Amino acid sequence: MFKSIQWKIIAIFLLLTVSVMIVVGTFLLQNISSYYHNDFAVTMSGQAFVPSVERLLSEAAASEQPVEKMSEVMTIYSVRMGIDSFRNYYILDGETAAVLGASDINTSKVTVTPNIILAMNALRGDTVDRSASYMDFALPITEGEDVRYIIYVIDTKEEMYDVMRNIFVNILWALLFGLILSAFLGFFLSRTIIAPISTLQFRAEAMAEGDFGHKIEVRSRDELGRLTMAFNEMAARLNATLRDIAAEKNKVETVLRSQNDAVVAFSSSGEIMHINPAAEKLLGEYAGLPFDAMFAKIGTDITLSRVLYLKEDATFWRDVEINKRNLKAFFAPFNIETMTGAGVVVVFQDITEHLRLDNSRREFVANVSHELRTPLTTIKSYTETIMDMTTDSAQTEFLKVIDNEADRMTRIVKDLLTLSQLDYSQKLNKTSFDLGALAQSVTKKLGIDAKNHRHNLQCICEGESLVFADKDRIEQVITNIISNAIKYTPDGGEINVKCTQKIAAAQLVVSDNGMGIPEVDLPRIFERFYRVDKARSRESGGTGLGLAIAKEIVELHGGKIKIESPKRKGTIVTIVLPLFS
Ligand code: ADP
Repeated sequence: MFKSIQWKIIAIFLLLTVSVMIVVGTFLLQNISSYYHNDFAVTMSGQAFVPSVERLLSEAAASEQPVEKMSEVMTIYSVRMGIDSFRNYYILDGETAAVLGASDINTSKVTVTPNIILAMNALRGDTVDRSASYMDFALPITEGEDVRYIIYVIDTKEEMYDVMRNIFVNILWALLFGLILSAFLGFFLSRTIIAPISTLQFRAEAMAEGDFGHKIEVRSRDELGRLTMAFNEMAARLNATLRDIAAEKNKVETVLRSQNDAVVAFSSSGEIMHINPAAEKLLGEYAGLPFDAMFAKIGTDITLSRVLYLKEDATFWRDVEINKRNLKAFFAPFNIETMTGAGVVVVFQDITEHLRLDNSRREFVANVSHELRTPLTTIKSYTETIMDMTTDSAQTEFLKVIDNEADRMTRIVKDLLTLSQLDYSQKLNKTSFDLGALAQSVTKKLGIDAKNHRHNLQCICEGESLVFADKDRIEQVITNIISNAIKYTPDGGEINVKCTQKIAAAQLVVSDNGMGIPEVDLPRIFERFYRVDKARSRESGGTGLGLAIAKEIVELHGGKIKIESPKRKGTIVTIVLPLFS
């Protein structure tokens, strides 16, 4: 209770009153003391013992009854000297200071004071010693050189002490009243300051509990009034911001709730912060587990620490299987204002159905391709037999078309079977070989074809580029790429094959100065059956599967293939194969 501002203000008021009273009291008492001492000095030297009185005393001293006469003079001037019960005069012997006469008949002896000693030495003893408990004055009455008598006046300061005592008691009373008054004043003044502060405290506590409903009434225009206004403003803004945040949160929660994809947010310690209904349903028994435990149980190599400090915007994914469902789990770290790696969001996409459809599609393609092989061989052999037998030129022409189309279909079926094989069995028959030498041999094989189109086909290989790969498959890739260059370059073109060794990789670049590929088609060029110029492709015996096969094979080896067509002035295909994969 005594720690409150109210008590502090009251204590300050009381201390202030006490100190003011001490200072005033000390000044007052000092002044009274000074006044009394000065008054005594002025009365003695300036009013009582003036030269005329001194002369009268000297004459009285020279008379026959000196003490009686001097007593008479002193009695006459006693009022002027202020003689009363506290102030007495004495007629002393000039040598021994023995009391010869006095206004106070009860005293027969006086203490020899410094002033008396001065008077014994024929000097006026008018020194006022403020620290002494008396005030005195000694006047020597001389005869020639001798000090015969000393007129001595002594004041006991009793009157002064009486006055000072009275004043001191009054000061104490004043102090008491002052203290009561300042306690009251302090109490009421502090209440005017404390009341608005208490209201602010009360409202701040209510705000912390979420109650923003009430405004505080502004009662004054002073600092407290301004503080209250600022507080009201702050509360209003805070309320609006919290409302916005709540609305945003609701929106996000609604989106997450109604989403089919499962979304789980983990904190930086791996605990689940948020999980949407789709995730609860999909994850089943895993739903309550922390990050590391969940993914260890699922059987992935992902740990929270690995995902948490990924670069912002970076995501990576893993194929996982939970409760017999095939899922793609995407991981993305998120930050909050002051903290990087505040948590991780995991989105699970159920791709079971997609995989099933993909598999049946592949199965269908594989079956159809397989089933078409026999009828195609039959059509081809019968067409060739009939062609050998017929002499009619029109019939021969039609039969040639049938033969050509059968060849094209055979190629398509062959390519489709190759893709199916790659889809189903990803086994590679790896050996170590020189990619440059393989490129040379493919170039040589396709040399006749290139010559037929008057192309200048060159293969430049710098040193040996040893790779550990499936030689037949890579040969197929190189054949597809160089064949494309030959097909899609107008006759008399330039085709260069270049093989170089890079750090831990071998690079093969096939460039031509042919028709190039429009920019819009580049992103889709590796799709199955995607062809830029369908007519030309068909005419040149293309199937639209060559690049798809090449990409599939290169990626199976852990390599990369890219196709560029700068300003459509030809095409550059780059293949990078790791030296060991
Ligand atoms: P296709 O059997 O039709 O050649 P590919 O998959 O090998 O099929 O190629 C797909 C398409 O890419 C081709 O139809 C062609 O339009 C384009 N293409 C491939 N290589 C080149 C090239 N070197 N120059 C121009 N276009 C090319």
